[in-house]
Amino acid sequence: MQTSKPIPNDFIRQIIAEDLKTKIYQVVTRFPPEPNGYLHIGHAKSICLNFDVAAENGGRCYLRFDDTNPSKENLEYVESIKADLAWLGYTWTELRHSSDYFEQLYGYAIELIKLGKAYVCSLTGEEIKQYRGTLKEPGQNSPYRERSIEENLALFAQMKAGEFADGEYVLRAKIDMNSPNINLRDPIIYRIKHLPHQMTGDKWCVYPMYDFTHCLSDAIEGITHSLCTLEFADHRPLYDWFLDTLATPCHPQQIEFARLSLNYAVMSKRKLQELVESKLVSGWNDPRMPTLTGMRRRGYTPESIRDFCEKIGLTKNNTNIEIGVLENSIRSDLDPKTARVMAVLNPLRVVIENYPTESEQLEAPYHPNDPSMGSRPVTFAKVIYIEQEDFLEEPPKKFFRLAPGREVRLRYAYFITCQSVIKDTNGEIVELRCTYDPATKGGSAPDGRKVKGTIHWVSEAHAITAEIRLYDRLFNQSNPGVSGTDFKTALNPNSIEILPNSKVEASLANAQIDERYQFERQGYFCVDNIDSSAEKLVFNRIVTLRDSWAKIDKANK
Ligand code: ATP
Ligand code: MG
Repeated sequence: MQTSKPIPNDFIRQIIAEDLKTKIYQVVTRFPPEPNGYLHIGHAKSICLNFDVAAENGGRCYLRFDDTNPSKENLEYVESIKADLAWLGYTWTELRHSSDYFEQLYGYAIELIKLGKAYVCSLTGEEIKQYRGTLKEPGQNSPYRERSIEENLALFAQMKAGEFADGEYVLRAKIDMNSPNINLRDPIIYRIKHLPHQMTGDKWCVYPMYDFTHCLSDAIEGITHSLCTLEFADHRPLYDWFLDTLATPCHPQQIEFARLSLNYAVMSKRKLQELVESKLVSGWNDPRMPTLTGMRRRGYTPESIRDFCEKIGLTKNNTNIEIGVLENSIRSDLDPKTARVMAVLNPLRVVIENYPTESEQLEAPYHPNDPSMGSRPVTFAKVIYIEQEDFLEEPPKKFFRLAPGREVRLRYAYFITCQSVIKDTNGEIVELRCTYDPATKGGSAPDGRKVKGTIHWVSEAHAITAEIRLYDRLFNQSNPGVSGTDFKTALNPNSIEILPNSKVEASLANAQIDERYQFERQGYFCVDNIDSSAEKLVFNRIVTLRDSWAKIDKANK
């Protein structure tokens, strides 16, 4: 990304700067997703890091799909990942797949066998687990560990030729069953899977394991800095072993950083998939999901996500980031560039008794601090809608909006005073009767009298009906699923509220998909990219104007 902002100075960038002083090379990084789900905001952290670091140093960044598990991967995920990356604003130097290297990886496996460093094992999956030992107990050697090189080569060739069933044999690295690091206890490097692969079709029935593939793919690509999350620190000795034993042409330097986790959210693809499959959300692109496709639909901008990733920075300790930090990033991105308009979410009809039947055009600026954004006409009329919550029959002390006998300012229009309240047979308020003061046009009174409240409104005859979807946090516990409870029990039952009958000002008649607006006093909204149409406008609330949870969080503490 080209930015004019100062480049962050974190521990990874410091390491790279040092490396560039002592070794002369071009920085090469990669973003290596497994195509087994949609990208989430945590991935964005890794994307920004890898692509930005390469760009800052005139280097290259690949997008590489680590596609070693055909049972969980598919093209839908591949395509969504590419689209999300492009949307975030990043262009990869080249698109690669680990499966591009299956031939080379197979060659590396043969080389390990020839070096006496890998063997074909006939133990079952269950037995391998038992032999592996635990964190406290060493493992035991497999009885097949001492097979001859010739026998291993022959069996591995038969595995590849499809002569065995899934699980009958595996190829394992021969390292150390007593290692305190379990990853080094003769890990499996190849398994049999009679499954077609989204890239290689039916060509293979043996597939390399992730750990073997990942580090060797990095080496094949000449990655200089292999940036990954902390849980891979324990895998680094294994990666080093593969790279050293095979004497690969290069040995990428792995540097780990803390993964992003957000409170009031879950981030693992497995859990997100569970929400999708159990229909607790409408899909991976549900606007409440922390996926990039969901956030995009909700109305998040790529800029706000990149800004957020920069703000949280890089550390070596896993911490939970307050979701409010993310919300502040979108607020500060939208505030200067988003048009203000009026929309009444829960309409209450108001008849202005002394106003003529003829309507009138008033002028309203699109932005209070940016005249260059211009203005639009809004039509004022005898019958308008205001927000139900802007009227109270018996107002408490600090309520400064409309009440019987009380005068308020209608934004960009006049002062009105409530004269009477019309109710239906159930006692529900259906309409207010008000009067206006023609001398207050534009929002101030010539006699200098003040009103304490300003409320928004739309004209009944000119407004457009729209569906407005109000979102809140998907979970109502800050750390869903903590202490072994099912994370789904922490779902917030009020995370979506649909208002089918909201009224938006006429200027929004041609609002286009993905357009964002500030609805005055209500928050930022975005035209839904799936369900909105010319016949039925649908808006998603991106974020409220202020953080209403900050208070709740404080009270909980
Ligand atoms: P998950 O655990 O959410 O299922 P994953 O790590 O299995 O994700 P990958 O597709 O393997 O997903 O991730 C691609 C890259 O994104 C990896 O380099 C990984 O370290 C990084 N990544 C994944 N989740 C996060 C996160 N929460 N914060 C930062 N980086 C992440
Ligand atoms: Mg992974």
